[in-house]
Amino acid sequence: MQQQKQHHIGALQEMDANHHLHPFTDTADLAQRGTRIIERADGVYIWDAEGNKLLDGMAGLWCVNVGYGRESIAKAAFTQLKTLPFYNNFFQCTHEPAIKLAARIADLAPGHMNRVFFTGSGSEANDTNLRMVRRYWDLKGKPGKKTIISRKNAYHGSTVAGASLGGMGFMHQQGDLPIPGIVHIDQPYWFGEGRDMSPEDFGIKTARALEAKILELGEDKVAAFIAEPFQGAGGVIIPPASYWNEIKSILAKYDILFILDEVISGFGRTGNWFAAQTLDLKPDLITIAKGMTSGYIPMGGVIVSDRVADVLVTEGGEFAHGFTYSGHPVAAAAALENIRILEEEGLVDKVRQDTGPYLQDKLQTLAAHPLVGEVRGMGMVAAIELVADKDTLARFENEIGAGMLCREACIASGLVMRAVGDTMIISPPLCISRDEIDELIFKASQALSLTLEKIAAQGN
Ligand code: PMP
Repeated sequence: MQQQKQHHIGALQEMDANHHLHPFTDTADLAQRGTRIIERADGVYIWDAEGNKLLDGMAGLWCVNVGYGRESIAKAAFTQLKTLPFYNNFFQCTHEPAIKLAARIADLAPGHMNRVFFTGSGSEANDTNLRMVRRYWDLKGKPGKKTIISRKNAYHGSTVAGASLGGMGFMHQQGDLPIPGIVHIDQPYWFGEGRDMSPEDFGIKTARALEAKILELGEDKVAAFIAEPFQGAGGVIIPPASYWNEIKSILAKYDILFILDEVISGFGRTGNWFAAQTLDLKPDLITIAKGMTSGYIPMGGVIVSDRVADVLVTEGGEFAHGFTYSGHPVAAAAALENIRILEEEGLVDKVRQDTGPYLQDKLQTLAAHPLVGEVRGMGMVAAIELVADKDTLARFENEIGAGMLCREACIASGLVMRAVGDTMIISPPLCISRDEIDELIFKASQALSLTLEKIAAQGN
């Protein structure tokens, strides 16, 4: 039996290597190393085909907010699949799941945001944002306002517009990105780039880069500023407290739109439905995806403020944009049930009042580890910076690959953490219990020690 299973896994891995191109992956390298086949999941745990049980510290890919194995989401999707598996929202038609979901999200969003445009993913949602802000300014009689200001090391998706809006240099290098009309300012990454100043001063300095860029380009050329509340894929970069206050006062001074990309932070991760509420921000557009359906079925969207909707709806006529799967009925049914679970189990309040502070508190115990230079986080998301020298906070040489070593050590300890360079990041399901948080911290601590041993064995 065991042998049969091993044979089956081997055959799947071979098929995968021959036919499956993985996202953000060196395919040749993966074929050498072999891929891990994830077979099933329940609660905060996943199991691979070899029977290893792992605590999923990344909620899949920042998305499984209600945890795995929710029968009621499966049932809601199954029922919808039988009743109406698909119909579009074009040509004067719609259906109940899309209507109810739009109304539900408008209910949860900040008060000045009352409409939703649905997409299939976060990337498509940011493509929508780009088209929507340009359309807005056209309708306002200011067609010159086209440029979008983003930040270096931001992540806004992988489509041409998404990757351009993002500030990942290694993505821009492939395929002549960014496209024209998108520029990037410095990021508020104090630990990585600002330690010669106080966090406070660095926050103000990096925020003022927005004003400098608006003045450099001319306010009449700038359509919008786009930002994540914390940069997720960039390494859970949480701006110093001074940053958003300064950004807010700059946004109040200039007539540009503000797009808040809440693909990761939306649906509870920071202890409110949206980080806009946690950080007291007033975006014109909010990008959503991931936690919207807890990843059970793909879906994304843009929450649109009254300011933008009033122009688009009242004066706009047809907005020539949309996707076959905009407001897909099965995805919408899954999203509605996902939101119902978040509400019924009080998961968002729990993150704010109980499990979030508990996680952050426990994580600080790892700060004493010799490999750790900083632990930071908010709500149910956090980063651990690995350093070569705890006193000077000097980082490892790239070749050592401390982050990758730590990621492997986590797997050996039964935990999924992601490595962004030498920054370890976690973003567990919002349903994680205190006991499971204790387990996560224990495994992370084990993994850190294992990493230290491996680095020492390399002779560093
Ligand atoms: N924006 C942010 C902030 C993200 O983290 C992501 C995905 N990680 C996206 C957009 C893109 O979403 P998707 O992968 O669904 O296209």
